[in-house]
Amino acid sequence: MSCSLIQKYNVAGPRYTSYPTVPYWEEASFSLQQWKQTLKRSFDESNHVEGISLYIHLPFCESLCTFCGCHKKVTKRHDVEQPYIQAVLKEWDLYCQLLADRPIIKEIHLGGGTPTFFSVEHLQQLIEGILAKANIADGYEFSFEGHPNNTTREHLHALYELGFRRVSYGVQDYNETVQKAIHRVQPFEHVERVTQWAREIGYTSISHDLVFGLPFQNLADVLHTIDLTNTLMPDRLAFYSYAHVPWIKGNGQRGFKDHDVPKDGMKRTLYEEGKKQLLAHGYHEIGMDHFALDRDEMYKAFHAGTLHRNFMGYTSSKTQVMIGLGLSSISDSWYSFAQNEKNLDAYYNCLENDEIPVVKGHVLSVEDLKIRQHILNLMCTFQTSWSDQAMDFAERGDVIQQLVEMQHDGLLNIEADRIVITEQGKPFVRNICMAFDLHLKRRKPETQIFSMTI
Ligand code: SF4
Repeated sequence: MSCSLIQKYNVAGPRYTSYPTVPYWEEASFSLQQWKQTLKRSFDESNHVEGISLYIHLPFCESLCTFCGCHKKVTKRHDVEQPYIQAVLKEWDLYCQLLADRPIIKEIHLGGGTPTFFSVEHLQQLIEGILAKANIADGYEFSFEGHPNNTTREHLHALYELGFRRVSYGVQDYNETVQKAIHRVQPFEHVERVTQWAREIGYTSISHDLVFGLPFQNLADVLHTIDLTNTLMPDRLAFYSYAHVPWIKGNGQRGFKDHDVPKDGMKRTLYEEGKKQLLAHGYHEIGMDHFALDRDEMYKAFHAGTLHRNFMGYTSSKTQVMIGLGLSSISDSWYSFAQNEKNLDAYYNCLENDEIPVVKGHVLSVEDLKIRQHILNLMCTFQTSWSDQAMDFAERGDVIQQLVEMQHDGLLNIEADRIVITEQGKPFVRNICMAFDLHLKRRKPETQIFSMTI
């Protein structure tokens, strides 16, 4: 990739796990009542057709990783587990009372924080409590994020017995200097052990998360990490760009200096060379920053054009309703988004008062729904079309005009009623989505709120 293209297009921009993106939600015109109404409508439309997804946020971590952008609470006290599980089950109960029918669960994802901070017994209590009030859809997919340092064979076994078949492990980088800088020391042997346990027990999709652009990381580190990863052959890989946003994340990202973080051309080289190495090992590029072996469902979904993207990133199955349970979780009814309380005491208070702990959200307009679909198409299939009248929108002419320069730069092709991103344009997919982002165009952020696109 040429340096001039990187310089030209490396700007601050969203990662588009939603549209509109969270900073552009119109909170003034949102209410809990609207959230309930839009959720009920969407649930009635889709529960019996495709089921619903649940995202459950388990926010506790035993120590703070300095690269982390998640909403977490660092503590070594495990007496926080039981009240938290009870609160999440109460939240689920409130949703079940709201919905007219028994939910049919297609997907459960346990994210964090560190789900494996919780004991086996508490995780069992959580999942059994959730499933006691629901049916399970055919072809269901249950997954969780495991920390290589504290996932036990018992965790893996108990969750497998409850229907979990996917696990993702945060690896980041195997170099010790990098691991110390990000305050996440975990030797290869730990990752190897938890990966092998998952295979032995019968998990069918094992994913590793790698990160490029970390402090002190160089090309040799990235290639070494990929080669070690390849010896374990995870079915799926995320190869993320480290989002250096200390002005948002505060002290958590200040365990190193700005100049320790690889930037611009160097950072892009880490990605480009890392990607080459992954492709050479038989992985296929799927959407943005994701790779999979051809045996994995995500690869099949990408080829079938059914890949979907939501707040958790890419997923191989789509449901119209995703309910987020737990501290700071985001829910999506397709017609609206809603985010839970981020303060733990306030979250507990809401539930004690029998209130769903949603504190902000956005109801999507007709225009939002169309743009959302275009952005999803671009992120999941690298093309989008307005040949269907229902996908056309008033400002399409301006959007296409803005893309002409990207066409000259070889990033995409503009056809009569669609655009197709070229191979060269794939790393710039966020920039291309930004051309469609009417909220961003109408109200440019006054300060930098997003990470850099490249
Ligand atoms: S990276 Fe994971 S384990 Fe580390 S602080 Fe963030 S959520 Fe916790």
